[in-house]
Amino acid sequence: MRYSLTTLLGQALMGNRGWRQAWRRPDPKPDYDVVIVGGGGHGLATAYYLAKEHGLSRVAVLEKGWIGNGNVGRNTTIIRSNYLLPGNTPFYEWSLKLWEGLEQDINYNAMVSQRGVLNLYHSDGQRDAYARRGNAMRMFGVDSDLLDREQVRAMVPYLDFDNARFPIQGGLIQRRGGTVRHDAVAWGYARAADQRGVDIIENCEVTGIDVIDGRAVGVMTTRGPIKAKKIGLAAAGNSSRVAAMAGLRLPIESHVLQAFVSEGVKPLIDNVVTFGAGHFYISQSDKGGLVFGGDIDGYNSYAWRGNLPMVEDVAECGMALMPMLGRLRMLRSWGGLMDMSMDGSPIIDRTPVDGLYLNAGWCYGGFKATPASGWCFAHTIARNEPHAFNAAMRLDRFASGRLIDEKGAGAQPNLH
Ligand SMILES: Cc1cc2nc3c(=O)[nH]c(=O)nc-3n(C[C@H](O)[C@H](O)[C@H](O)COP(=O)(O)OP(=O)(O)OC[C@H]3O[C@@H](n4cnc5c(N)ncnc54)[C@H](O)[C@@H]3O)c2cc1C
Repeated sequence: MRYSLTTLLGQALMGNRGWRQAWRRPDPKPDYDVVIVGGGGHGLATAYYLAKEHGLSRVAVLEKGWIGNGNVGRNTTIIRSNYLLPGNTPFYEWSLKLWEGLEQDINYNAMVSQRGVLNLYHSDGQRDAYARRGNAMRMFGVDSDLLDREQVRAMVPYLDFDNARFPIQGGLIQRRGGTVRHDAVAWGYARAADQRGVDIIENCEVTGIDVIDGRAVGVMTTRGPIKAKKIGLAAAGNSSRVAAMAGLRLPIESHVLQAFVSEGVKPLIDNVVTFGAGHFYISQSDKGGLVFGGDIDGYNSYAWRGNLPMVEDVAECGMALMPMLGRLRMLRSWGGLMDMSMDGSPIIDRTPVDGLYLNAGWCYGGFKATPASGWCFAHTIARNEPHAFNAAMRLDRFASGRLIDEKGAGAQPNLH
């Protein structure tokens, strides 16, 4: 069923009785060409591009919960491509280009909103770092503008410019950045992959990976064994646990990251703003709630529930930037499970086990990467070699020293 204005009008006249289920609920088959472990944004996008770009449709996505229960439905929806290093910039720019055509491509309203992402700076040193980043972006053909204090004030007059503990000196803006409705991305990719023949199997946890003579040949699941010629791991915060089933130890730590939403208010914030003197960022959802977040909780965990000290830290940063927040009531908070790599950049690569591929290490920022990650992972799986966009995102870079460390912060996840 194609979604269009004609379909909408037709259904309205028929009392909305003809809508079909967005994707099938098939039982697992005994074998597939490719099995993807994890039905988050990255797993679903990978399956979609395997079918679309490489003609593979004997593909299954195995999801232990339901579609949208993981980070893909828990994030704060920000997309951008404002990266500094050559290992990252072309990849994230490709992702932004795919976002720009995504709704037409998958025939789904994902509410892609290029409202601009503004990073504030509060010191001369930070201005220089942002100027460098903006210049690097422009050299890759990515839009960026360095703004002074008055330009920022004209754009976001509600911030504290006059009495701030960390005075705002200016900002770096990427106007093509913005937000996308996160769970619509999961649903849209699931529906589009299903239409191309991919089996999306929910409530199917992978409990083991069969490796024979150094080659992955199938998975054990709570719904029985499944054989596969190739297996792609896209389990985000559970990557280390899933990879351990094949005997791999990953350079990844899992941490909780929390997010918050306020009660709905009239339109106030029309872009995404990030604080430069603490870890805090904010935007406004189409329902009116202010959506904000900050740092990871800072200890290794597989829990989805965060702790109060980080709630306090985020609230303090918010108040320092935007004192009017103190008049709002907070409606909800929640946590997600982050796969923090040791240089802050992701891994999309083959593994030492033949037929086993890894997509992980997304840290705070994997949502914006969803289209390019799926596209590049599909390429890597189908052709058994990385695409130029993910060539630097190698698993062995932690042994070879070819790190992609945007901030030069070293192996400390909360600093990336
Ligand atoms: C609070 C918060 C805010 C964030 N904000 C942003 C943001 O603004 N912008 C941005 O770019 N990124 C953001 N992120 C990061 C982003 O959400 C993640 O990096 C990204 O969603 C991870 O990829 P995914 O969608 O595939 O993950 P997930 O949706 O977590 O998918 C992984 C799936 O694997 C499944 N799985 C795990 N183990 C197994 C198993 N054994 N068998 C079968 N299935 C399994 C899980 O159930 C899960 O559904 C945020 C994250 C959080 C938590």
